[in-house]
Amino acid sequence: MVEKKTDAKAAAKGPVKGKKKKLKNALYEIKGDSVSRKNKFCPKCGAGVFLANHKDRVSCGKCGYAEWKQK
Ligand SMILES: [Zn+2]
Repeated sequence: MVEKKTDAKAAAKGPVKGKKKKLKNALYEIKGDSVSRKNKFCPKCGAGVFLANHKDRVSCGKCGYAEWKQK
């Protein structure tokens, strides 16, 4: 049963549920209050690339574009 062995190996890595903060700026990973919908797209990278929501700015984790929020 070699297959079972590989299964156990995969299981040893643990479930893939909590992606946590491994990703630079868990853009659309934040499911708390669906931030994904609120985030804007990066004007440089185009639609599909979200801007990460920060306290006082949004930024693109791909190209580094940043946009400061204004009150
Ligand atoms: Zn970008």
